[in-house]
Amino acid sequence: MEPARFAVGVDIGGTKTALAAIDPSGRILARTTLATEAALGFERAVSRLTATIDDLQDQLQRRAGDLMGIGIGCAGPLDLEAGLINNPYTLTGWDRCDIVTPLRQHYHVPVLLENDADAAALGECWLGAGRGFDPVVLLTFGTGVGGAAVVRGRIQRGVDGAHPELGHMPVLPEGPSCYCGFKGCLESVASGTAIAEAGRALGLATAEEVFAAAAAGHPSAKDIVSRAHAAAATAAWTIFHTLLPQRVILGGGIMETQFDGFAAAMRHALPGATQFPAHKTSIAPATLGNDAGLVGAAALILGANA
Ligand SMILES: [Zn+2]
Repeated sequence: MEPARFAVGVDIGGTKTALAAIDPSGRILARTTLATEAALGFERAVSRLTATIDDLQDQLQRRAGDLMGIGIGCAGPLDLEAGLINNPYTLTGWDRCDIVTPLRQHYHVPVLLENDADAAALGECWLGAGRGFDPVVLLTFGTGVGGAAVVRGRIQRGVDGAHPELGHMPVLPEGPSCYCGFKGCLESVASGTAIAEAGRALGLATAEEVFAAAAAGHPSAKDIVSRAHAAAATAAWTIFHTLLPQRVILGGGIMETQFDGFAAAMRHALPGATQFPAHKTSIAPATLGNDAGLVGAAALILGANA
């Protein structure tokens, strides 16, 4: 039998870069992870990427022609049209770095770059919690709060191809100032950073400690968590009425342990809604975990949802 062709998905993060060879059915044929080591230089990173992709091909004993393309998800800011990574904030020294051209020239296949949140949303829509739903909104709660929307299988884009900045929805008038220029944004109330910041006044160092103290009945910690839940519920109300998603997926590190509390708060108001079909909307946890970006990057090439 002729072996299946495959795409390589690449997920570039601040500390780790994950790669996988994925076939059109979504099967991961081979995978590997390397340290991103952005500060050691972009050209070095490209060399290591090509060496790693060559290794994946060798492992699979595939011919060069079996590689359908390379999809790359990366933490932004990015210039999607020019294929540039403009993110010296988390990838030290990577400003106006062209990741697409060298890989395209080396492999002679399509190479596509995408924001990591959008790649993760595509991944969840292809093989995870968004499968069979449309439209889908992914909200990720981690260090920050991010998100993406997939409508009719395509990433919802704005000016310059950018995705909706769901973390910067105002949810709390006169809330904490946000780096975006506003105050009381979802991110400035319900992100891991914001929860940890609020917890410091109680002698708690991390968001995890705040959640643990709240679960143990600490009144002030419970207030911080309640405020984050209320912020998420307000944001959900806005999302439901503006994007009318069939499914909202909650992902990110915080949701690995806190999904039930956040989802309950978001669902609480739904039965009272009169202006959108609440009975057709569901809230679910992300199911692909750290693989969502990798799978979605490959989906850019395989056309699964791109
Ligand atoms: Zn903001």
